Amino acid sequence: MYIVFECRKCGHNLYMDAYNIGWKHFKKLAEKDCPQCGEEGYENWILLGTNRTFPSDDAIAEDE
Ligand SMILES: [Zn+2]
Repeated sequence: MYIVFECRKCGHNLYMDAYNIGWKHFKKLAEKDCPQCGEEGYENWILLGTNRTFPSDDAIAEDE
């Protein structure tokens, strides 16, 4: 299952793996600019809800 966030400006969606999520992922989300419209990440991402499938390559939950 994935947690879905939406860009406040353009509606672009991001997905995070709900079973492998931590504070570092939220921190990373807060710093992530929207890949579609370039809006700065801080307070831009809206929590939409959850989704069972992963429809795009825009995950940000990967470990570094
Ligand atoms: Zn956007």
